[in-house]
Amino acid sequence: MSQEIKSFYPPLRTLMGPGPSDVHPRVLAAIAKPTIGHLDPAFQDLMEDIKSGLRYAFQTENSLTFPVSAPGSAGMEACFVNLVEPGDKVIIAQNGVFGVRMKENVVRCGGTAIVVEHDWGTAIDLQRVEGALKESPDTKVLAFVHAETSTGVLSDAQALCALAQQHDCLSIVDAVTSLGGVNVEVDSWGADAVYSGTQKCLSCPPGISPVTFSDRAAETVRNRTHPVGSWFLDLNLVMAYWGGDGGRTYHHTAPVNAMYGLHEALLMLQEEGLKLAHNRHSGIQKAFVSGIEAMGLTPLVDVDNRLPPLTTVCVPDGIDEAATRAHLLKTYNLEIGAGLGPLAGKVWRIGLMGHSARMENVLLCLTALEDALIRQQAKIEPGAANAAAIAMFDNFV
Ligand SMILES: *Cc1c(COP(=O)(O)O)cnc(C)c1O
Repeated sequence: MSQEIKSFYPPLRTLMGPGPSDVHPRVLAAIAKPTIGHLDPAFQDLMEDIKSGLRYAFQTENSLTFPVSAPGSAGMEACFVNLVEPGDKVIIAQNGVFGVRMKENVVRCGGTAIVVEHDWGTAIDLQRVEGALKESPDTKVLAFVHAETSTGVLSDAQALCALAQQHDCLSIVDAVTSLGGVNVEVDSWGADAVYSGTQKCLSCPPGISPVTFSDRAAETVRNRTHPVGSWFLDLNLVMAYWGGDGGRTYHHTAPVNAMYGLHEALLMLQEEGLKLAHNRHSGIQKAFVSGIEAMGLTPLVDVDNRLPPLTTVCVPDGIDEAATRAHLLKTYNLEIGAGLGPLAGKVWRIGLMGHSARMENVLLCLTALEDALIRQQAKIEPGAANAAAIAMFDNFV
């Protein structure tokens, strides 16, 4: 017998994990607007606005710029499945979870993955990547994660894209946790295939993956010898839906209401302006880090490679990592993330992304952490963290 179900009322949480992050009320309101047909002329106008808003966010003129109707992982897959053919060599500069997934994608496309492995918590080493490119001159693609959400590291995407170009390679860039929070300059970097996600710095719910492809990448897809292994993600087919001026052909039914949300989020990004959005993320992280340092905690990543939207904080000796997170969720309705892989149990991952990158979130998180640690006998001066964060915040407002 089936169980009786009732309406679902989600608890009201503050989301400061590795994603999803807090959704802006304007985005939630947009999603609640009446659904229309996905081939309705009004929806087609909305699609054009979204593509234009994405070009602004990605800082590109690429005509092949659109949202994949699926989460960031699908954007990743769209890049690999279209650009990598059986036998192709792909260098992956790997420094966390998402680089590991890139390798999985290459293998499933029948390509050969050459992995340049880095310790988790470190940025990608340009010299080692250059060495790998020299060693395998027939490499077709260089792939890397700009903002490693698993470790809180930001790598030098501009320099890596330049290396790819110097060695006649295409670049695939994971910008899931950078777009909207950290500068992503697709055209001036010469990046070829870049994907992102809506639930990190764009203040939207999860479920959509903005992507952009350079003309060079689009040309590579058109000239493939093997058909693309995925029907849903085949750019040649998707573009007949998202592309063409007028005359759209049915490919799949876009998640209409989710697109309303993305549209509103992109509008808000334009209103704030990219530069201010990036400054807000970096400034808020500085305030947060001042706070955690004032309570005796340390960030895992050194200041030069720290990713503004996500801070990994080392768990001090004698503190129960999971019990601390549980206390934050239960008592403060506050979600933070756990460490992954080699960092499991050793760090918390604290997101200050999109609508979550606000001072009130910083103060809530510092207060809640301080409480959880003092309950576990940590020697902390109550209030010091908030005072330090506020003092730092005053420096940049
Ligand atoms: C979250 C994330 C993804 C995956 O996005 P989903 O929407 O969860 O599929 C990929 N890469 C990075 C760097 C991420 O942070």
